[in-house]
Amino acid sequence: MTTILVATEKPFAKTAVNGIHDIVTKAGFELKMLEKYTAKEQLLEAVKDADALIVRSDIVDEAVIQAAGKLKIVVRAGAGYDNIDLKASTAKGIVVMNTPGQNANAVAELSIGMLIYLNRNFYNGSAGIELRGKTMGVHAYGHVGRLIGSIAKGMGMDVYAYDPFLAKTVIEQDGVKAVDSIQELYSKCQYVSINLPANKETRESINFELMATMPEGATIVNAARKEIMHEPSLLKIFAGRKDFRYVTDVAPDCEAQIKTEFATRYFATPKKMGAQTEEANINAGLAAARQIVAFIQKGDTTFRVN
Ligand code: NAD
Repeated sequence: MTTILVATEKPFAKTAVNGIHDIVTKAGFELKMLEKYTAKEQLLEAVKDADALIVRSDIVDEAVIQAAGKLKIVVRAGAGYDNIDLKASTAKGIVVMNTPGQNANAVAELSIGMLIYLNRNFYNGSAGIELRGKTMGVHAYGHVGRLIGSIAKGMGMDVYAYDPFLAKTVIEQDGVKAVDSIQELYSKCQYVSINLPANKETRESINFELMATMPEGATIVNAARKEIMHEPSLLKIFAGRKDFRYVTDVAPDCEAQIKTEFATRYFATPKKMGAQTEEANINAGLAAARQIVAFIQKGDTTFRVN
């Protein structure tokens, strides 16, 4: 019997679990659930006889890969897959996939929501500022980036984007201005939304020099990954520019210091919650189950990332 294990420290919504169950059982496979586990040993034990694994932000490191005797595929129900050890998976011939785009709208809405919350002074009753007529820079024009662009345009913002992996014409057909460099994006835009994956190239890539070129009222929204920010630079820009503001779904390690010294110019969600909507949960969970069935039954590797 082919066994699909869903291992989620932070479980999927019930509707998503029911949907995953239907897809898996209709395909003739067995579904095994490990939800709200508290110790890694539980995951190591559960994965032993699994043919396929669905996770959310759960860590699938070398120990998990080694404990899995029959595993053929791991699907991260979400966009980022930096919680999966790709090297160890590839070495064991295990296919790794993500479910791109399934939670993008949830992240885009949260990003804009955080900006409005900050611009309206945390809804404290005092006069705030509007987004209409301002410049929005979309740093990485992927699933999340293009939705942020579209919402920002709908709100009357002037939208720019930078993505070296996309032809400028693809960006411009959405009515968004494509720029040639990251420097150009930051120097043109008062608001910048970071939607980059965390990798060797992007880690700590948002530095002081870049942020210092932003126009008056410089505000960055980061719902991607905390590792993308160079944290000493973040502290330096907060200290050096009284107009600099930062909102994020992925709080930096230096958060305590920012909160103490620059509280009125900073907001972070208490816990990463960009993808925490019923819709995103359901979309990503069901997509993961469908991708596993298509892989096992037809060898479909469309969303493979390793
Ligand atoms: P995506 O894969 O659709 O888009 C990523 C984009 O980044 C691509 O268009 C790619 O060309 C571009 N890119 C890669 N390297 C770049 C570089 N060096 N410079 C500029 N552009 C670059 O992913 P997505 O669904 O849009 O998600 C974006 C990121 O948001 C994810 O990698 C993940 O880290 C994060 N995310 C966070 C949450 C959350 O809960 N806060 C949820 C989903 C995604």
